[in-house]
Amino acid sequence: MPYKDVETDRAYNRNRRAWLKEHGICTDCGSNYCEPGHVYCKACGVKRKQRNDAYDSRVSKTERMKALRHARISQGLCGDCGKPAEAGRPTCPRCRARRRESAQVARIRNRIKRETEAKVVTRHTGGTANV
Ligand SMILES: [Zn+2]
Ligand SMILES: [Zn+2]
Repeated sequence: MPYKDVETDRAYNRNRRAWLKEHGICTDCGSNYCEPGHVYCKACGVKRKQRNDAYDSRVSKTERMKALRHARISQGLCGDCGKPAEAGRPTCPRCRARRRESAQVARIRNRIKRETEAKVVTRHTGGTANV
């Protein structure tokens, strides 16, 4: 498609926004008057706030998960999935197996990392390291 049209479109949008701003009209929806001291109307201000709130709730997700986990465990449920937990354990058998597996993977990964680092150190000290 003609490149020129895109450019015209951009220029049009730019002019439109400038025009709206100049006339005190919301640049978001282009139909309502702005709130005093803002470049958007009341409705769009609420929408913006909701977007920000959604962002905040994403940030604190870890905290909420932690609280949920504690609540589940205190009720004798699996902290991971909420199903009945094994007696005396914070997780159900399935999640325990899954955790064990991922712990093993993490251990192996750590060992490989340590070994790689050790090799680098040995090379740097001229191979005189006694192990
Ligand atoms: Zn608006
Ligand atoms: Zn579970």
